[in-house]
Amino acid sequence: MDLRWTSDELAFRQEAREWLEANVPAEPLPSGDTAEGFALHLQWEKKLFADRWSVVSWPKQFGGREASIWKWLIFEEEYYRAGAPQRVTQNGIFLLAPTIFEFGTPEQQERILPRMAAGEDMWAQGWSEPGAGSDLAAISSRGVRDDANGGWRLSGQKTWTTRGAFSTHLFGLFRTDPEASRHRGLTYFLVPLDAPGVTVRGFDRLDGDEGFAEVFFDDVFVPDSDVLGGVNQGWSVAMATTGSERGLTLRSPGRFLHSSHQLVELAKSRPGQGRLNDRVVQSVIDARAYELFTLQQVTSIVAGRAVGAESSLNKLFWSELDIRLHETAMELLGEQAELDGPWSKGFLFSLAGPIYAGTNEIQRNIVAERVLGLPRK
Ligand SMILES: Cc1cc2nc3c(=O)[nH]c(=O)nc-3n(C[C@H](O)[C@H](O)[C@H](O)COP(=O)(O)OP(=O)(O)OC[C@H]3O[C@@H](n4cnc5c(N)ncnc54)[C@H](O)[C@@H]3O)c2cc1C
Repeated sequence: MDLRWTSDELAFRQEAREWLEANVPAEPLPSGDTAEGFALHLQWEKKLFADRWSVVSWPKQFGGREASIWKWLIFEEEYYRAGAPQRVTQNGIFLLAPTIFEFGTPEQQERILPRMAAGEDMWAQGWSEPGAGSDLAAISSRGVRDDANGGWRLSGQKTWTTRGAFSTHLFGLFRTDPEASRHRGLTYFLVPLDAPGVTVRGFDRLDGDEGFAEVFFDDVFVPDSDVLGGVNQGWSVAMATTGSERGLTLRSPGRFLHSSHQLVELAKSRPGQGRLNDRVVQSVIDARAYELFTLQQVTSIVAGRAVGAESSLNKLFWSELDIRLHETAMELLGEQAELDGPWSKGFLFSLAGPIYAGTNEIQRNIVAERVLGLPRK
C-alpha cells in the first residue's frame, strides 16, 4: 500500500476544494429527508452535475470525470470537509449505478445513468417487505410473465423505502419463479413510480423526518427492457448492490474523519469535560483506522480482487464508530444535547446504522461464515 498522493491527485484535491469552498451553501440545508429539504438538495445536485462533480468516477459520456477510485476517495474527503449537503441521490449513484455498470445492457446504461447523474431521476431501493427484512430471500412480491406485451406484471408491497415519497423510480426484487428455491426465483426490476398501479404512501421516521415510504404494486406492467441482469438472476445482482451499500461507496471514510474532527472542536469548546478526552481521541483514531482499512481495500480492488463478504467488516466498523462518536458528542453537550440540532439529529440517525444496509447481527453471521470460515452451526 502506497500512502503517497501523486501530483495529479493533489491537483485534483485542490480543484475540488476550491470548487466546494466557492459553492457549498453558507447555511446548512434543511434535512433532505423532508419535502422542502429534498427540493433544495436537488438544486444542489444539479449544480454539482453542471460542473461535473456529481459522479466524478463515472465515464465522461454519463456526466463523470473518469476519476480513479483514489480520486473519488479524495473528492469524498473534501466533500465532507467542506460540510457539503447530504447526497439525496445516494441510492441511485452509490448503490444502483455500480450494479448497472456491472450488469446493465448498453441501452440501460445510456438511458438511466445520465439522468441519474443529473438529478433528473431519483432512485429508491425496494427490497424490504413487511415479511422480509434480514431474510431478504423471503420476499413475496411477485412478477408474472406478460408474454403478449413483452414484459412482467408486478404485485405486492415494499416498505422502509428511503425517500420513496420523493423518488421517481425504484429498483426492487420480485419473485418471478415461485417453484424455484428461495434465492433462485428472483428478478431485479427497474420501475418508474408513476407507472399505472403503483401507490406510494410516505410515512414519518422517529426523528420527525418524512424519510420513508411504503410502495404498493397492483398489476404494474414493466417491459423486458427494465429487467436488470437477467430473469431469475436477481439474487446475485442484488448481492452486487449490497457490496456497495455495506462497503465503500455508501459510507466513505471522509464522513467519519470529518465527524471526528468536529468532535475535537466540540471537546475544545468544553474544557470542563476532560474526562471524555480519551473517548474523543479514540474516535479520531478509529476514523483514521477506517480510512486506512479503506485504502487497503482500494489497493486490493485496484489489483483486481473483489471485496465480496469483507464489505460486512466495513459496515460493522462504520456503523458502530458512528454511534460511539455521537454518544461522546451527546455527553460533551450534557444537558444542552437536545438543543443542538445537528449533533442530536446525527445521534438519532446513527442508531439506525446497525439496522439499515443489513443488520449488524446479520453482518456478524456473514463475517463468521464467509470471512472467517466458521461452521454455520
Ligand atoms: C434508516 C433505514 C433506512 C432503510 N432504508 C431502506 C430502503 O431504502 N429500502 C429497503 O428495502 N429497506 C430499507 N430499510 C430496511 C432495512 O433493510 C431492514 O430494516 C433490515 O434489513 C432489517 O429488517 P427488519 O426491519 O425486517 O428486521 P428483522 O429482519 O425482523 O430483524 C429483527 C431483529 O432480529 C435479528 N435477526 C434476524 N435474523 C437474524 C439471524 N439470522 N441471526 C441473528 N439475528 C437475526 C436482526 O438483526 C434484528 O435485530 C431501512 C432501514 C432503516 C432503519
